[in-house]
Amino acid sequence: AKKQGKSSFKLYSSRLSDKIHCRQKLETLLRLAVKNEELHLVFQPQINEDGVFAIEALLRWEDPELGVISADEFIPIAEESLLIEEITHWVINQSLQMIARLRLICPSVYVAVNISAKNCLYPEKLKHCILTGLNDANLPGSALELEVTENVFLQNVHNTNKLFKDLGHYGIRFAIDDFGTGYSSLTYLLNLPLNTLKIDRSFIQDIHCNKIKLGVVKGILVIAKSLSMNCLAEGVEIEAQKQCLEELGCNRFQGYYFSKPLREKDFLLYLKSDLLQ
Ligand code: C2E
Ligand code: CA
Ligand code: CA
Ligand code: CA
Repeated sequence: AKKQGKSSFKLYSSRLSDKIHCRQKLETLLRLAVKNEELHLVFQPQINEDGVFAIEALLRWEDPELGVISADEFIPIAEESLLIEEITHWVINQSLQMIARLRLICPSVYVAVNISAKNCLYPEKLKHCILTGLNDANLPGSALELEVTENVFLQNVHNTNKLFKDLGHYGIRFAIDDFGTGYSSLTYLLNLPLNTLKIDRSFIQDIHCNKIKLGVVKGILVIAKSLSMNCLAEGVEIEAQKQCLEELGCNRFQGYYFSKPLREKDFLLYLKSDLLQ
């Protein structure tokens, strides 16, 4: 048993060092990818009764050696180093330039950009980046929505409040992402100029066959209404989910049922076919 214990410890420690090694390797490769502009954005439409009213920008990384690395994997690594700052600034600038082009076809559409809680620890830098980006692209604040998770309120509530209020004065919108899965306090929702609640995919997934989930979503819709916020359902994949949501009075959707996230060129083709309908 002793021997076994020893060898399992060895195994464990080597696994751990593998993990650290892998993480360090990923961080090095990610730093290089950022520097060489090897990341790219894809865009997923947000739909209401009238069609596409906004798009969410999602980051993609394809390494020649490792293949596609998912955002859920590399964003946390970026967040642990200072890389997240550089990445977010790049995403904001690219997204604003894309939406400026898109607005030539669809004048009132806006872009939703994911902001990490870490970015809100440096509010002046973030604010500067956003305001310069809007100015460079010749866009009003209403062309941009920032998606944050509830966890942003865990750190630094005071600065985050101030940042949101400052940016709100420019017409920039705010969305709470993955609503219902994080640390929530309705007090934060009450006191901030928030525009959108995005109901997490985990509630939408089986909404058409699970009475409890249906009830929870119903409740979220009531809360959103009381707070004068729009509600958007994430991860809508099938007609039955959409129908369920419509019956509850939720009319804003995002998900594979409408479109996967697409490169700009493909997104424009999608939009043209949507406009023709
Ligand atoms: P998120 O912000 O909640 O983004 C939604 C995720 O769900 C995206 O995954 C999207 O591709 C996926 N999705 C959309 N519709 C459906 C659907 O109908 N079914 C299913 N199963 N999935 C759907 P993605 O692009 O892999 O991103 C994962 C997470 O990584 C994002 O979750 C977000 O938290 C983070 N992320 C992505 N891009 C950025 C970025 O530019 N900055 C930051 N800070 N985080 C980002
Ligand atoms: Ca998001
Ligand atoms: Ca989400
Ligand atoms: Ca998420």
